[in-house]
Amino acid sequence: MKSYTKEEWEKICRHCGKCCLIKLEDEDTGDVYYTDVVCRYFDEETMSCTVYDKRCELVPTCLKLSPENVDKLSWMPQTCAYRELFEKNPSAIKTTIKGRVISETEVKVDELEDHIIDWEDL
Ligand code: SF4
Ligand code: SF4
Repeated sequence: MKSYTKEEWEKICRHCGKCCLIKLEDEDTGDVYYTDVVCRYFDEETMSCTVYDKRCELVPTCLKLSPENVDKLSWMPQTCAYRELFEKNPSAIKTTIKGRVISETEVKVDELEDHIIDWEDL
């Protein structure tokens, strides 16, 4: 992958919010399921993270994407701009999570399974 400045790398993100959806992993199979529940720090108005500089401290599962690890994140949404770039597989899907999600502050942990989604545009 070619090299990017920090600014160039950040600009690739299209702020769809899909990577900020809460995911459930099947411990037996390793399969990852997306839910329509979004991280408590995601602001749907601005479609951005409210704790961006501290995100990895506050949410340990929140990974910082970089050119070095983008190839290992098979659980990223199919339509993530970084994934498409890495897989050289651009799609026309530019949808976001806006208006389609609920904050994790409003959902109990044992209810998460009820929120599993099967969006075709994920
Ligand atoms: S901490 Fe920020 S970037 Fe990480 S999942 Fe939550 S909203 Fe998204
Ligand atoms: S899924 Fe990819 S393009 Fe969408 S907000 Fe996350 S990093 Fe950006």
